[in-house]
Amino acid sequence: MSNISNSFRVAVFEGDGIGPEITKPTLKVLETVSRRFEGFDLEFEILPAGAGHYRDTGSALPEESMAKARDADAILLSAIGLPDVRYDDGTEIRPQVDMRFELELFAGVRPVRFFPGANCPLSDPRVEQMDFVLVRESTEGLFAHMHDGKVIDNQSAIETLEITRDTSEKLFDFSFKLAQQRSAQKNRPGKVTCVDKANIFRSFWFFRSIFEERAKLFPDIEADAAYVDAMAMWMVQRPWDFDVLVTENMFGDILSDLGAGLMGSLGLAPSADIGLDHAVFQPCHGSAPDIAGEGIANPLAMILSAGMMLTWLGQKHEMSQMVECGEVVDAAVSRVLSEGKILTRDLGGSAGTDDCVAAVLDALG
Ligand code: ATP
Repeated sequence: MSNISNSFRVAVFEGDGIGPEITKPTLKVLETVSRRFEGFDLEFEILPAGAGHYRDTGSALPEESMAKARDADAILLSAIGLPDVRYDDGTEIRPQVDMRFELELFAGVRPVRFFPGANCPLSDPRVEQMDFVLVRESTEGLFAHMHDGKVIDNQSAIETLEITRDTSEKLFDFSFKLAQQRSAQKNRPGKVTCVDKANIFRSFWFFRSIFEERAKLFPDIEADAAYVDAMAMWMVQRPWDFDVLVTENMFGDILSDLGAGLMGSLGLAPSADIGLDHAVFQPCHGSAPDIAGEGIANPLAMILSAGMMLTWLGQKHEMSQMVECGEVVDAAVSRVLSEGKILTRDLGGSAGTDDCVAAVLDALG
């Protein structure tokens, strides 16, 4: 029997479009793996939020949902947003972005890896060694004042970018610690690369100077820096050379889709938004309304995100079996992809969501 004190409450947002279709099987994977490994229980509570909820009720993220999410041990969030449901000012419904601010989830963690059989667009054989993590600052940068943008007399438009010392220090410390963990796991030296535009903007010069200060606290990890435009090119030319990349919110938004493209599909790209107390785990892709309800969505990014949740909970609560469960989920997905028999359409196959989940459950065994 599991110890009741090791029972973790997970707030679940099924979201819009393909969201519910990929959430249900993900919960099944989590239930299966948690039953297999004794020592912890997961309790799921499905909470309303999203563009569909806004259309029906006028609220994108009800206060009660937010309060329950804040109280939970972790938050699992599927894809949210529908292109035709918008606020009066024309912007899309993105409660997940508001949640990052509310819960101070400053570190957006986006792993980018090579998966055999997953349609990686690069043909250089070294791409098999591609394995880096993009850490996107998620509470400030160009998103800090996203609700205050102005269009003046239909002649000009102004947005404001903000970098603070406090958040940047937390962000860089998080990135260096992540590089230390990866270095220990992979038994190789660790490196953090700060990605910015310090040659042009004072805000990024400030960002870079804080990076250099914090780097001194982690002498075991190599610290490097690159301009974002060059990094976009290097991610295509030699992505295997990077370990941890850390960057501002908007640059991270763009580079994480480039990372997903390198993996072969958005349907394979997981993510975590992590703060000092809370964390949200969510696939990088949107709600894909063009394929919603057809049973063909790739559930793997969501399943990999759920695996990251187990690893994070295990590390936070010093429960090695939970960390191991996260690794088991990850390995099951890798196995399905490398066998290449059950691939969803976005990966060039013809399997449906259910076939893909059945293959993952099989691989867990
Ligand atoms: P957002 O701006 O909300 O991130 P987006 O406009 O980038 O969304 P997505 O909803 O991510 O768009 O979809 C982009 C394309 O990728 C669509 O053609 C969609 O069908 C496809 N896609 C996204 N996620 C998946 C998935 N899990 N499985 C299969 N195809 C997907």
